[in-house]
Amino acid sequence: MPRRGLVVGNWKMNGSIAFVQALTQAVGRGVAERERDRPLPCDVVLCPPFTGLSVAGQSLTGSTVRLGGQNSSEAVSGPFTGEISGSMLRDVGCSHVILGHSERRTLFGEGDAGIARKMVAAFREGLVPIVCLGETLSERTAGHTLDVIRTQWLALCPALPEEEEKRSHWVLAYEPVWAIGTGRHATPEQIQAVHGFIRQQLNDHLGATIASRIQILYGGSVTPDNALAIFSQRDVDGGLIGGASLKADTFLAIIDAYLEKF
Ligand code: PEP
Repeated sequence: MPRRGLVVGNWKMNGSIAFVQALTQAVGRGVAERERDRPLPCDVVLCPPFTGLSVAGQSLTGSTVRLGGQNSSEAVSGPFTGEISGSMLRDVGCSHVILGHSERRTLFGEGDAGIARKMVAAFREGLVPIVCLGETLSERTAGHTLDVIRTQWLALCPALPEEEEKRSHWVLAYEPVWAIGTGRHATPEQIQAVHGFIRQQLNDHLGATIASRIQILYGGSVTPDNALAIFSQRDVDGGLIGGASLKADTFLAIIDAYLEKF
């Protein structure tokens, strides 16, 4: 049975309340129209900025489209000015949370160990962590891509829950840093090479059953024009979409590309 896919919109720090409301409603309507023909083979998650989560949740009442946070704290509550906890995300209706995005790593100094601690917190709160990893251009040019991916992934291993059935309830997003927001996406062959490597790592460390259930997304300048070629790769289970998720028609066209895989 094919793995269920996942298409995630990461809106980053964009959008007034009115913008969030209009875009969520438009995506919700578009997904509902597609569901009239057949159940979708993928879930759709929208990650507006924190200030838009509440209104986005209201706009998605009755929709299968789900909500995610763009980051969350490793702490439960307390004196952490500017932070948002996993339970707060749950409270406002989130099912998912993006962790370790390269913008968090490069602009806000997040490292593998801290990301693993955030992952533990997300599991504790019942959120599905979408954990990003990927190499910089200089790391790729130097031929270190797979070493970087291995190091980043191995740092996450201790954060996985003990319970067998929960160990596949998370998502990996391969996002080459040089492809994020640059208009320069990795080729389908480069993407499959890394996704296949990640799948093999999952298989070696977690066993075949769990490895076969974990979704691996690609992110980095995905557009309606390149989405089908990327999604057609064997180990690509969907996408983490930045810029192209800020317009309903382009985001829905990317979802359509995923539907074409089946
Ligand atoms: C992202 O921010 O996760 C991303 C993939 O951005 P973009 O699609 O704009 O490259």
